[in-house]
Amino acid sequence: MDFITQEKISPGMQQYLDVKKDYPDAFLLFRMGDFYELFYEDAVNAAQILELTLTSRNKNADNPIPMAGVPHKSVMEYVEKLVNLGYKVAIADQLENPKDAIGVVKRGVTQVITPGTTVDTLSSSDNNFLVGIDKVADNFTLAYLDLATGEFKRTELVNFAAVCGEIASLRAREVVVGFNLSDEQREVLTKQHNLLISEEFTGEDVCEKLMNYVSRTQLRDLTHIQEAVHYEIADFLQMDYATKTALELTINKRDGKKFGTLYGLLDATKTAMGTRMLKSWIEHPLIDLARIQKRQGIVTALIENFFERADLIEALKGVYDLERLASRVSFGKAVPIDLLQLSNSLSNVPAIRNVMKVMGSELLLDIISNLDEIPELSNLINAAIDENAQRSITEGGIIKKGYNAQLDKYREALTEGNTWRLELEAKEKEKTGISGLKIEYNRQDGFYFHVTNSQLDRVPSYFIYKKALKSATRYTTPDLEAIEITVLEAQEKSSNLEYTLFQKVREQIIKYINRLQVLAATVAEIDCLQSLATVAEKYNYTCPLLNETSHEVKIDKGRHAVIEAVMGDQEYVANDIHLFDGTNIQLITGPNMSGKSTYMRQFALLVILAQIGSYLPAEAAEMPVFDAIFTRIGASDNLIGGESTFMVEMSEANQAIQHATANSLILFDELGRGTATYDGMALAQAIIEYIHDHIHAKTLFATHYHELTSLDKTLKDLTNVHVSTLEQNGEVVFLHKISDGPADKSYGIHVAKIAGLPNDLLTRADVILQKLENQSPNLVNSGNSEQMELFTFDSKESEVEIALEALDIMNMTPIEAMNQLVKLKELL
Ligand code: ADP
Ligand code: MG
Repeated sequence: MDFITQEKISPGMQQYLDVKKDYPDAFLLFRMGDFYELFYEDAVNAAQILELTLTSRNKNADNPIPMAGVPHKSVMEYVEKLVNLGYKVAIADQLENPKDAIGVVKRGVTQVITPGTTVDTLSSSDNNFLVGIDKVADNFTLAYLDLATGEFKRTELVNFAAVCGEIASLRAREVVVGFNLSDEQREVLTKQHNLLISEEFTGEDVCEKLMNYVSRTQLRDLTHIQEAVHYEIADFLQMDYATKTALELTINKRDGKKFGTLYGLLDATKTAMGTRMLKSWIEHPLIDLARIQKRQGIVTALIENFFERADLIEALKGVYDLERLASRVSFGKAVPIDLLQLSNSLSNVPAIRNVMKVMGSELLLDIISNLDEIPELSNLINAAIDENAQRSITEGGIIKKGYNAQLDKYREALTEGNTWRLELEAKEKEKTGISGLKIEYNRQDGFYFHVTNSQLDRVPSYFIYKKALKSATRYTTPDLEAIEITVLEAQEKSSNLEYTLFQKVREQIIKYINRLQVLAATVAEIDCLQSLATVAEKYNYTCPLLNETSHEVKIDKGRHAVIEAVMGDQEYVANDIHLFDGTNIQLITGPNMSGKSTYMRQFALLVILAQIGSYLPAEAAEMPVFDAIFTRIGASDNLIGGESTFMVEMSEANQAIQHATANSLILFDELGRGTATYDGMALAQAIIEYIHDHIHAKTLFATHYHELTSLDKTLKDLTNVHVSTLEQNGEVVFLHKISDGPADKSYGIHVAKIAGLPNDLLTRADVILQKLENQSPNLVNSGNSEQMELFTFDSKESEVEIALEALDIMNMTPIEAMNQLVKLKELL
């Protein structure tokens, strides 16, 4: 606050400074009249970000105070923009009616909006998680909360890297920290994960701290927030953030959207909470066989009962976002139409339950028992809220006739007043002979007789003058005044009463929030299962057989779920994935673009699909339940984190080597590519050997190092497969078909030939290749690297080489050197 240098500060500004002092890290929007004003640095920064005009208060003073304002009506647009950019905003309102104020109007902060606590601005298919972290001894605790849905969970994590992984998976934008971060940790959170860090030190544990932070910012009712549910990340198939991203599970690499992802493919949900739950299922596949089989069983029942499923889908379509409606009720933000949506949603529950019952599966019993249509709640809403009610809560038209006797009386008075008015109008018209006499109403003048100036001579003496317009004059009479008082009073009292009654209804609903949340979760689960069934049927999937005892993988004619959906099943070449008991490592060779990466990803997606309880794109599938998937796929340059590609490659490899078990799946795609040939090859071989001897995880290893294919002679659990190709009418055709054994080595030269390179060159390449092959060290058996010299064989000296040899560099000027270079290039 280096702007504050002047001595005398007005009482209004003093009030501002007092409030601002408690919110140093937020933009403070300070209500003054019809505007929310920002001052000092807030004004300067906000003016730039929001493109506001920067002015100043007390312009003529020596140190004018920078000021910028936004109209109060559109304040939320600006708040949204700031929050979306990762800032905090505190809103200070007038706490008393300015008319009643003595001195400066009382003002105070009524709400703080932060990236992790916005509830109104996000699309309904996404959660907005606020994450809290704390440190207990050497371990970390993590809690996350979605204010819009009330979801609240907590877990323990052993190291900070795991904390970051979980935060990244939750795609949180703000983290509430309950301990002193080290500089390094702070940097990782802000730079690498782009998080807004907030602090909260009061509270017993991470959950309490998080809740304290939320109450401090929200300053409103939080009844809908559930008890924190404990979870273990080890309860789910473990995948780190890099793996989830590489496999494009919920966001694609192109633009970060859902299209082209597994989530995009599987989403045939009909409700907002179903959509959110499906996403969470995909990010957290199960590892408990019984739970997986239960989902599978229900999906089977849904596939088999085609007509019931169609009815179910219809009923689900009528269910609105119950979680968000419940949270709006508890925030006191629900409007009349929200309550109607609530009751409409509840009215679909019996239909859902009936369909589930008809399907007659034992597995559905829990679900059926949780389908509670909360009749007390729908009765309450149906009795109180008018079917035509809209959003406004101050203009009446909310409460049904017959709900409240007093309200009905006011309304009668209103109708009566109307009748009286018409009677009075007719009576006076006859009495005075003013043919155009009308009784009208407006806000400013109330009720009045309207007389056009041409008939003014007929106005009787008991008409009381009110106002003259250009062509007409307005009058009242004692009779009209009496009607006016009754009607206006009834009107005001009736809308006030409606407002109060509506608030009472809203408060009564709060006690059903828990039941609503259980219902919402149940409907979401049904919706997800229905979605899996619908997709399985559409793409002709099969039910996998999962087992816990055998490690065998036997997938017949498997497909890549997402690519198949894009290119069509006619185009996609199905592949078997067979890793029998004796096979842990499959080494995949084949030319570029032949389908190695696709084959590997296909396997990972099949595992994920199986473990969320889905059917699979395959003819038949048997596989174990995996505990984790580790990947090193593609070039995901982690530039922000300042790590080189090769460093990222090695860190990801290390993740797998440190944490994989015999029940894990490892996918290494062209590992070692980021460094010199022999360097990379040596590492690749050592890594394969290590996995083979110590980890025994199922591993797919795609490589361009041909030399590695001979490892099958020494590593008994390793087998070679390759992607086969075909030459057809002088063109190479990629069959995308995986076959046993290593790929044909001379493939590159073969392709070059078809591409039409000169024969001389090709013959030469063949000679070089043969020499290389003869001299290349046997990596498997030789422990020494002395012979690893690439071009040690003798060769016919080229023109360029001869010319190079002849150069006398020490006696050359730079220009001469450059000229020689040009000549050399010409020789090439
Ligand atoms: P590689 O990793 O061997 O370089 P990719 O797996 O990236 O090859 O595959 C290259 C392209 O080939 C893919 O983009 C896809 O269009 C096609 N492709 C791969 N596998 C198949 C398949 N099984 N069926 C049809 N097309 C495939
Ligand atoms: Mg590839």
